[in-house]
Amino acid sequence: MGMYDSFIIRCPKCKRNLEFQSKSGPCMLMRCTPQDLPMEIAIGINGDVVECQFCQINWKLECDIPSVVSVSLIKTEEKEHYPGNYNEKLPKNIKRMKELRKILHGN
Ligand SMILES: [Zn+2]
Repeated sequence: MGMYDSFIIRCPKCKRNLEFQSKSGPCMLMRCTPQDLPMEIAIGINGDVVECQFCQINWKLECDIPSVVSVSLIKTEEKEHYPGNYNEKLPKNIKRMKELRKILHGN
């Protein structure tokens, strides 16, 4: 059986726990709640539908995941991980980036 992480949220109607299973995070059987859901786990369950076994209502999870990540550059003494100079091939990756954005955010 594959590993995953769980997001637990109460059914709005009967208040029993609903479980969404994510494979986009660490997949170490983490148990998250609406108060501590990491973005990498949310990406895997965004748009998923589960049925409350008690109410027989289908609930779709809608996560508000930021589409742009905040970044900064910090001067460092660490060695480089890969050459970071201007990459001529970059414009060709725009299509792939759009596809990736569609997968992550559905638009
Ligand atoms: Zn319910």
